[in-house]
Amino acid sequence: SQPTRISLQIHPYGKKRKLMITRDVTALQLAETMRRDFVANVSHEIRTPLTVLSGFVETMQSLPLEEADRTRYLGLMAQQAQRMQTLVSDLLTLSRLEGSPAPGAGEWIAARELLEHVLQEARGLSAVIADPPHDIAADADEEIWISGAKTELLSAMSNLMSNAVRYTPPGRKISAGWTHREDGSAEFHVRDTGPGIAAEHIPRLTERFYRVDRSRSRETGGTGLGLAIVKHVVQRHGGQLDVTSELGKGSTFMLVIPASRVRARSRR
Ligand code: ADP
Repeated sequence: SQPTRISLQIHPYGKKRKLMITRDVTALQLAETMRRDFVANVSHEIRTPLTVLSGFVETMQSLPLEEADRTRYLGLMAQQAQRMQTLVSDLLTLSRLEGSPAPGAGEWIAARELLEHVLQEARGLSAVIADPPHDIAADADEEIWISGAKTELLSAMSNLMSNAVRYTPPGRKISAGWTHREDGSAEFHVRDTGPGIAAEHIPRLTERFYRVDRSRSRETGGTGLGLAIVKHVVQRHGGQLDVTSELGKGSTFMLVIPASRVRARSRR
């Protein structure tokens, strides 16, 4: 969309008529404010792990450390470096999604394969961060074929799954699946039994760096960019992201792919 609107207005001043060109800068200013906020956010997100990292470096330089402490410090330092790596990688993903044309019809991808892939991945993540691990299962796997960009779809699905794992207390149930909708579109949903999200936050979830629970996001390695990435992928495929949630009960995230990109059977 155009950030600048040029409007032509004919203003009658007395008997003479003047042609006035005004420039509506509100859209331009808004874009500039958003850009500035974004840079400020990125700087902050990088500065935090850097500060921790250099703190440890200084400590290690000034104190003779026991072997056990040394190992622990190095582990914590590696965590901060990892955090910066994830952030940079998410930023690159976002910028690639924003800067490239929407995927064409492409190949037909089996939704079931994508589902298997993200279920496996989520179980792996859960085994690492949750004790006991979550009960993660498919609750539907209809035969659905989708035309689009496979890596993008996988990354969107995997972001939704990893959020469910990261925000749901250990041991609880998470289910996911692909289903047809009546209008011919297809839906991938992830249903969790986590804390849920208050209604006022839902419209803002896909904003970059918007977090409901800042500390939980950080603790579990969140960048605050996951849902922004999901939104881009879905939009590029002509679809939408739906969210329903009930506080204390859980959330369901739905990725909807339009009928034009969906087939019910393999024609291979
Ligand atoms: P993050 O890296 O912080 O998880 P996201 O863009 O993926 O960033 O999500 C934005 C915010 O939405 C999260 O910080 C979290 O507060 C909230 N959120 C996302 N998924 C869930 C979920 N399944 N349950 C509860 N809150 C969630």
